[in-house]
Amino acid sequence: MSYKKIDSHIISEFLSFLDEKQVIASENEKLAYAQDKTEDFVYMPELVLVPGNTEDISKILKICNKHIIPVTVRSTGTGLSGGALPVKGGIVISMEKFNKILNIDTDNFQITTEPFVINYILQQAVKEKGLFYPPDPANYKDCSIGGNISENSGGPKAVKYGTTKDYVLSLEVVLANGDIIHTGRNLIKDVAGYNLTQLFVGSEGTLGIITKATLKLLPVVKENVLMLMSFTSVEDAGKAVNTILNTGIIPSSLEFMERNALIISKEHINAEFPPVSEKTQAHLIVELDGNDYEKLLEERELLKKAVENADNPEFILFANSEEEKEQIWTLRRNTGTAVGDKDVYKEQDISIPRANIPKAVNYINNWCQKYGYTAACYGHAGDGNIHANILRSGVSDDIWNNKLKLHLKELFDYICNALNGSVTGEHGIGFVQREYLPVMIDQTTLNIMKSIKNLLDPNNIINPGKIFLD
Ligand SMILES: Cc1cc2nc3c(=O)[nH]c(=O)nc-3n(C[C@H](O)[C@H](O)[C@H](O)COP(=O)(O)OP(=O)(O)OC[C@H]3O[C@@H](n4cnc5c(N)ncnc54)[C@H](O)[C@@H]3O)c2cc1C
Repeated sequence: MSYKKIDSHIISEFLSFLDEKQVIASENEKLAYAQDKTEDFVYMPELVLVPGNTEDISKILKICNKHIIPVTVRSTGTGLSGGALPVKGGIVISMEKFNKILNIDTDNFQITTEPFVINYILQQAVKEKGLFYPPDPANYKDCSIGGNISENSGGPKAVKYGTTKDYVLSLEVVLANGDIIHTGRNLIKDVAGYNLTQLFVGSEGTLGIITKATLKLLPVVKENVLMLMSFTSVEDAGKAVNTILNTGIIPSSLEFMERNALIISKEHINAEFPPVSEKTQAHLIVELDGNDYEKLLEERELLKKAVENADNPEFILFANSEEEKEQIWTLRRNTGTAVGDKDVYKEQDISIPRANIPKAVNYINNWCQKYGYTAACYGHAGDGNIHANILRSGVSDDIWNNKLKLHLKELFDYICNALNGSVTGEHGIGFVQREYLPVMIDQTTLNIMKSIKNLLDPNNIINPGKIFLD
């Protein structure tokens, strides 16, 4: 597909309905839209547009579809798979003006929102009304609901409450030809026709631009307790995940940090707490929530005893104050940033059946040793979703730039085919994981996915160069 370059005639078409401040052409200003949080990639868009309403987006897409100009939609740009990078040039549509919560329906436990609203701000807004929006990516203070829907983001609470897909009731979406469609209804039960809402959830900005969403809410949960379990082997930590879940108590979070991740994150924020001894190989962070505090204390004791009896923990400690809880969570939420500041790295976001966590982590560490990399593994143990950050650790340019891809194929072959896992649990395929998709999805199934894309966007203008190889 060859795309048209943007010229002054096309810019004047945009200026017929956008004001000058909504059309950004200067190199300096465009730089802020040329990167996301994926490695050190920089792809300059030819033009950035900042539409103010759904009609504007519809008009932009009609023009781009007519001239065959690539369009990449961007929210807060915190994605880790390069989804918001304009890899084919063209236009970046910044959603920054879509930042309003439109309605909180306290009778039906729903919120209707524009997509640029930050996850944390939405959580706080519904909490004030006695309601709860559970999906909480580790960087929930920085990422938007539109990005979360497009990536089907998860977070520490997914083990008990599910991921973004479990909360999206309906969407307003602008298609590549400028048509505005409405998927789903704001109902708990609705099986009328195909579920187009879920087609757009997790579609990584490749099928249409989301301009409005209605999300399901839950009643607020008032209490929580937090405990930290330390282990001298990853196997014991992995076994403890099953011990915990087999008690029948589902934690509201069940997170994992392997030794390297703990040390890198602790050093980064100069943290003394929680302790990591010479022998520590992994921590589990276990949060329980509910409205009956006494019951939570009983459950906490029960989990402690179960793990002490079965899994040989190094120590188990209870967070005794809000400050200690915050310290434990800060260490966990900071890990991705800490690894990025430590060394050049490739983020991997593998998902496996959770009983396979020890096998996966051991394989990753051996694989790293074989090729000279280092791994920092951490993530959502309760979901079997482990972020394996592969640090460059001084390997040559040839290995890092040319051989790593082959090495990763070997890794994903094991993860996907020997352990029945996936290349990505929540960060998406985007730009950087495209060549690994065929490791886990057969050609016939891939062709069906491509046909859906082709049906909705026959000129391949919306976020081209993502999910599929060219
Ligand atoms: C430190 C750190 C921790 C993280 N922790 C987690 C975690 O725990 N769980 C998790 O799931 N992710 C996590 N992420 C990844 C990331 O934050 C999520 O993918 C997030 O959902 C992206 O939101 P965003 O608003 O920044 O989207 P962007 O990066 O701007 O865009 C992401 C994708 O969504 C598309 N998109 C954005 N807005 C729209 C729209 N309105 N319509 C259609 N498509 C759109 C873009 O084209 C792109 O493909 C983390 C990232 C960082 C940096």
